[in-house]
Amino acid sequence: MLFLIAPSGPRAQSRGASSPQSFSQKGQDHLLLLYNTHTGERIDLVYRRGDQFIPGALAKLDYFLRDHRTGDVRHFDPRLYDILSDLASSIGKPGGEIDIVCGYRTSSTNESLRAHTTGVAKNSLHIQAEAIDLRMPGINTLKLRKAALALRRGGVGYYPHSDFIHVDTGRVRQWCFDCPASLIAGD
Ligand SMILES: [Zn+2]
Repeated sequence: MLFLIAPSGPRAQSRGASSPQSFSQKGQDHLLLLYNTHTGERIDLVYRRGDQFIPGALAKLDYFLRDHRTGDVRHFDPRLYDILSDLASSIGKPGGEIDIVCGYRTSSTNESLRAHTTGVAKNSLHIQAEAIDLRMPGINTLKLRKAALALRRGGVGYYPHSDFIHVDTGRVRQWCFDCPASLIAGD
């Protein structure tokens, strides 16, 4: 049997505090399966158990998401992993593989990209290890964008020509890079 107490006010909260059944989700494992499109590496791990992030898993993810051009590693905002995990669940693929197009970027890498490509912000949150560019195999990226926007957990950028979305833990906002108007009609 599963006992759930609806948090509907102070009384419910005080009952919840003395009722361990209300925390039945506490030990739930949160996992990620990621593929790095630049390094060819794949990682499959539990990064959070209940409400506790797992330090060893976060360290592995930091390395996995390193600046592949320089090898530099920076500690990522782990809330990004929740966004990735929830995104996969929300499109009906919990634990489904996510292709990582870009994780951490050093300032020098970001400047180099800005000089050679378009659509790269000067103060990109990739430099702060607070942003990830991704797509999911077999999932329409426009659909993935809509699912990311529905989470309302940070910034969501859409890059249809490169077929990826950007998610970050900054303020809730959205943009579409070089999008034909017809593509985003009906949002
Ligand atoms: Zn990005």
